[in-house]
Amino acid sequence: MISVPKPVPWNEKLMRWYRQNKRALPWRETSDPYAIWVSEIMLQQTRVEAVKEYYRRFLVRFPDVATLATAPEEDVLKLWEGLGYYSRARNLRKAALVAVEHYGGHLPGCYEELLRLPGIGEYTAGAIVSIAYGEAKPAVDGNVKRVIARLTGERESIDRPDVQKRLWGKVRDAIPKSDPGSFNQALMELGATLCTPRAPKCDACPLQADCDAYREGDMESLPVHEKKRPSRIVDVAVCLLNCGGKVYLFRRRERLLHGLYVFWLAQGVTAPGAIERLLGEEGIHVTYRGELGEATHVFTHLIWKMKLFHFALEAVPPENWLTENQAVLADAQALHSLPLPTAMKAAKAAALELMEIGAVEHCENRVLPTV
Ligand code: SF4
Repeated sequence: MISVPKPVPWNEKLMRWYRQNKRALPWRETSDPYAIWVSEIMLQQTRVEAVKEYYRRFLVRFPDVATLATAPEEDVLKLWEGLGYYSRARNLRKAALVAVEHYGGHLPGCYEELLRLPGIGEYTAGAIVSIAYGEAKPAVDGNVKRVIARLTGERESIDRPDVQKRLWGKVRDAIPKSDPGSFNQALMELGATLCTPRAPKCDACPLQADCDAYREGDMESLPVHEKKRPSRIVDVAVCLLNCGGKVYLFRRRERLLHGLYVFWLAQGVTAPGAIERLLGEEGIHVTYRGELGEATHVFTHLIWKMKLFHFALEAVPPENWLTENQAVLADAQALHSLPLPTAMKAAKAAALELMEIGAVEHCENRVLPTV
């Protein structure tokens, strides 16, 4: 009797492919839950190549939970500068504080307890426990959703909660007990390298024979998403307020870019005269020096269309205004050392250039009355 070989399940093919093809990445050389946590948070919404150097520097400066917990938030944000989505950095530090207070300075090893920490959702908790502790929990990120939707022919919108649940369930069913961490990483790796959003490399894919989308030829139209609402566009005046050879920076209290330093910002205003009036209403008197250019910054649901302006302060602003606005009078060194968001990149470059050519004003001797 001729025995027919049993078909190899897709999860086994995937694991075999991963073992032979995985990229050498620094966070794959460790089983330290703290380092894995840091890497997973950094990798959210960010390219692998961009993360590598940030990850290295972060672990040198904050090698463990306790060091991170005791660091000033400003230091953590400074190391995060340029990586974007700064709430990730703030939550890392907050979660480290909770870990020190309740878990003896270590990340909890239990999935449910991890979920209680700030910034750790099902994806991150699943990644940590599966990679660091070998627990069979799925970790479904955008890459994984795309792979599973194509592989299993999911043609409903993956933004719907019931479809999301279905995708998680499909991963849960396929996850092997023997090496769940590698399985989760293999799915992510396939999504990042072969099963890419556009032009997937199906000819090199180990799952081609199992793939519904490949059979149907609609790989590029999967996964299906709900129609996105267009981003709101906001005009923002970014004002360099020069005083005594330095410029004022203000620490944000708002949710967006919270804790980071920005130049003086005015939303919905783009004319220098209007800005002068706005500042004048707060008792701040300035002389317009000129426009320094334009810049655009895209946030998740918002676009800032920025115009950069240069104003010379006619006098040092009153103390209570400075305190209320968490102002810092910054020289070139402070501009480099304080955490500024990428949205301020063009303005920072303009400020440094003004300082370099000495085009900043001196106003120490003329003090305005307190408002
Ligand atoms: S065959 Fe193509 S579409 Fe299907 S999982 Fe592989 S790369 Fe993705």
